[in-house]
Amino acid sequence: MSSSQQSSTMLLQNPHLNRGTAFTIDQRAALGLEGLLPPMPTTIQTQVARIIMQLDMFDSDIQKYLFLSDLHARNEVLYYAVIMSDPAKFMPLVYTPTVGEACQKFDHIFHSASGVYLPITAKGRLRELLSHWPQSDIRFIVVTDGERILGLGDLGIGGMGIPVGKLALYTACAGVPPHLTLPITLDVGTNNHELLEDPFYLGLRQPRVRGAEYDAFIAEFVEAVQSLFPKSCLQWEDFANINAVPILERYRDKICTYNDDIQGTAAVALAGIMGSLRITGQKLIDQRFLFLGAGSAATGIAELISEAMVLEGLSIDEARARNWLFDVNGLMESSRTDVADFQKPFTHDHAPTKSFVEAIESIKPNGIIGVSTVPKLFNQQVIEAMARVNDRPIIFPYSNPTSRSECTAEEAYKWSDCRAVFASGSPFDPVEINGKKLVPGQGNNVYIFPAMGMAVLATEAKRVTEAMFIIAAKAVAAQVTDANLAVGLIYPPTSNIFDASLQTATKIAEYIFDNGLAGVARPKDIEAHIRSIAYKPVYAAEVIAP
Ligand code: NAD
Repeated sequence: MSSSQQSSTMLLQNPHLNRGTAFTIDQRAALGLEGLLPPMPTTIQTQVARIIMQLDMFDSDIQKYLFLSDLHARNEVLYYAVIMSDPAKFMPLVYTPTVGEACQKFDHIFHSASGVYLPITAKGRLRELLSHWPQSDIRFIVVTDGERILGLGDLGIGGMGIPVGKLALYTACAGVPPHLTLPITLDVGTNNHELLEDPFYLGLRQPRVRGAEYDAFIAEFVEAVQSLFPKSCLQWEDFANINAVPILERYRDKICTYNDDIQGTAAVALAGIMGSLRITGQKLIDQRFLFLGAGSAATGIAELISEAMVLEGLSIDEARARNWLFDVNGLMESSRTDVADFQKPFTHDHAPTKSFVEAIESIKPNGIIGVSTVPKLFNQQVIEAMARVNDRPIIFPYSNPTSRSECTAEEAYKWSDCRAVFASGSPFDPVEINGKKLVPGQGNNVYIFPAMGMAVLATEAKRVTEAMFIIAAKAVAAQVTDANLAVGLIYPPTSNIFDASLQTATKIAEYIFDNGLAGVARPKDIEAHIRSIAYKPVYAAEVIAP
C-alpha cells in the first residue's frame, strides 16, 4: 500500500477526522478519497436523518446503544450531531437506563476499547499507562472502579460504560469538547462471582483489593493524573460508599475534583427544594426535612441543604438541626448506639421511634425525602400525615430505579388531595386527577454535572466547592418557569438541557471568578466565553490529513 493510500484509508478510520459521505467533491479529490465513497456527497443534516432512520429499525434499546457506540468509534462529529439534535431523546440510549444493561453485558458485547484501563497489577506504572492516551491536553476525567454501578452493584471492568456514557453527556448537554475528556476504569478486581466465572470476562480475575493497597493505588493514580494532565478535573463515579466518601474527603481540598453521586445528587435535590419553595412561597431557613434512609445520598443532601441554610443566616448547627434521618432501625436520635460518624450531625434529641408516621407527626417536616432503596414506604398513612401537617407537603421519593421508588406520583397526588409538591429520582408520567393535569419532575443529576464540567473547564477552576453546587442548584431552580410551576413541575424540562446547562455553567463560572478560584483571567462576558468554547458538532472547514 502506498503512503497516500494508507493516509486516505486512515482518514476514513479515524473517528476524529472521518466525515464519511460528507466529504465534499474537492476534499475527496485532494485527499485521495475518490472511489472510496459512494459518489454523491451529503450534508451532515442528511447524515443525522439517516442515522435516526436506521436507529428506528432496531427493536431493543441495547441494539440502539451498540449502533450509536459504533458510530462514536467511526465518526465523532456525526455521533454528537445525532445526540445533540435531541439530547432528551438520546440521553436514555447513551446513558441511563440503557447503559446499565450495556455495563452488565460489557464482556459479551465488547467490540472496541474506548478510554484507559488501569489494572492494579500495573501499580508503579500508572503514569506510563496513562501516557499512552493519544491526547495530551485533558481537562475532564470521569473515573470509576466499577464497584457500585447505578443500582446494579459490582460490575468490575464492565463499569467502563459509565465514564464513557457520562462524558458523552458532558459534551451533548453542555458542550464540553470531547477531545479534552478521558474515561478511565480502575480495575482492582471484582467480588461478582458470576463475572469471575464468565469465560468472556475481560477484567482481572481476583477479589477486590481493599485497605492500604487500594488507597496506595488511588494515590498513585491521582499523582499520575496530576503530573500528566495538570489542568484536569477528576470526577469520581459509582464507587462504593466505603471508598467514595473517604476518597472525596482526602482530595477535595487538594485538587480539582468532585463526586457526582454525592455532590451532584445533593445539588439536584436542593434545586428541587428551591423549586418547591417557589410553589409553597416559604423560605429555606424555615424548612424542616425528614429523610427516609440515612446513607450517603441522605447525608449528602442533608449537608448541602444545611450549608445553603447557613448562607441564608442560620449557624451550621441550627441548620443541621432542621434535617432529620430515619433509617431501617427508626429515627436517628441521640440514644441510638449504631450511629456512624457521618450521620452524627443529623442525629438529634428525640424519643426513640420506629414509626415513620409518628416521626412526621412529631417533627412536622415540610418535606420528606426517600433515599432508602425500598419501594412503597411512602404509603397512604405517610402521605396523609404529611398532608395533615402541611398545606403543600414536599414529597420526594428519590430511590432508583422506578421499581424502588418510595411511592408513585399518582399515589402522592391522590393521597394528598393533589396538594403534594412532588419530584422523584426516576421519571413518572404526568397524572390527571379530577381533570387537573400534574407534571412530576425528575431529580436528574444531568441538570448539574454537565454544567459543572463546563464551568470548571471555562475557568480552569482550582477546586470544586460545596458553594459551587449551591450556586448550580439555585441556577437550575431559577430556570423553572411559572408555567412549569402551575402544573407542579419544579425542575426545568430536559428538552432544552443544552441552553439550561450553559446558563447554569455561567452562574457557577461567575462564582468561581468572584471567589478567586479560577486559573484564567476573567473574560469580559462570561456567558459569551462559555458559548464560544462549547463544542459544536460540525465538520471543520479544513480537513487535516493524518
Ligand atoms: P445506601 O445504601 O447508602 O442507604 C440506604 C439507607 O436506607 C440506609 O441508611 C438504610 O438503613 C436505609 N433503609 C433501608 N431500608 C430501610 C427501611 N425499610 N426503612 C428505612 N430506611 C431504610 O444508599 P444511597 O447511596 O444513600 O442511595 C439511596 C437511594 O437513593 C438509591 O435508591 C439511589 O438510587 C437513590 N439516589 C437517587 C439519586 C437521584 O435521583 N438523583 C441520586 C443518588 C441516589
